[in-house]
Amino acid sequence: MIHRVAVLGAGTMGHGIAQVAAMAGYGVTLFDVDFVAVETGLQRIRKTLDKGVHLGKVADAVRETTLAALKTSTDLAEAVGEADLVIEAAPESMELKKRIFADVEAHAPAEALLATNTSSLSIGEIASGLQRPGRFLGLHFFNPVHLMQLVEVVHGPATDETTLHTAVQWVERLDREPIVVKDSPGFASSRLGVVLGLEAMRMVEEGVARPEDIDRAMELGYRHPMGPLKLTDLVGLDVRLGIARYLHETLGSEAFRPPEILERMVAEGRTGKKAGLGFYDWGSDA
Ligand code: NAD
Repeated sequence: MIHRVAVLGAGTMGHGIAQVAAMAGYGVTLFDVDFVAVETGLQRIRKTLDKGVHLGKVADAVRETTLAALKTSTDLAEAVGEADLVIEAAPESMELKKRIFADVEAHAPAEALLATNTSSLSIGEIASGLQRPGRFLGLHFFNPVHLMQLVEVVHGPATDETTLHTAVQWVERLDREPIVVKDSPGFASSRLGVVLGLEAMRMVEEGVARPEDIDRAMELGYRHPMGPLKLTDLVGLDVRLGIARYLHETLGSEAFRPPEILERMVAEGRTGKKAGLGFYDWGSDA
């Protein structure tokens, strides 16, 4: 039974996961190695809740109970010490994630479920250093977490049935839609979504059309809620580049080779909405 949740990493995804878990009534500790990041994460949650109240989508009482259910920490042992579920949302690096879970295993209760929010990395490989890999799985949320319904529940080669079942039920308790996916590079979502984004970038490189027109083609012609380039700005060009490199390496398909424009924009710091500039100019929205 899950009561307490620890979220590791208070960035784009971590603060959102902490918010939806707290809104569903769980006690949540939001952890980050960076004190400023936890404070910023909490501020972002407050801002989203305030906006929800303002728009009449979140009741005042829910705002209050959500904030009361949230704790922050920069001490890992304290953050995971009483957790029934630990969700990691740290940067997309295999080495980092393995290191984090080795630490988590040393401090979390033996029966706690351990999950990673990785977009593409192998669940099996992250779990390979664990003493009890049966309790490990992927819980892949989408950005922005408070608005997106889908959660990919990814079972690794060693994930046991009870872990999978408990995780699916927990996702449903968050009022989200779980889909169960095998541990395969890019899972069900990124593998398709990234191809579209990379091809759109190659079209920008070739001067086929302007970014906003390529996006409009998908939005109006294919009824996608958001075009692939705007979505890339939202996800972060650096995050997408990391995923593209990984998929190119693991799946071997040229469709995943990162386009030059993506490499260049990331090198220039044009990483999308969070930087104020990507394929679009986000100005003060950043
Ligand atoms: P982010 O850069 O916004 O946030 C990462 C946070 O992790 C930062 O606050 C950083 O200080 C913190 N961190 C660094 N080292 C840490 C450690 N050792 N322990 C705990 N926290 C640490 O990244 P993000 O976009 O939130 O991505 C996090 C994960 O979620 C990645 O694996 C990414 O692939 C995945 N993901 C991202 C998106 C997206 O749209 N951005 C969507 C789905 C999944």
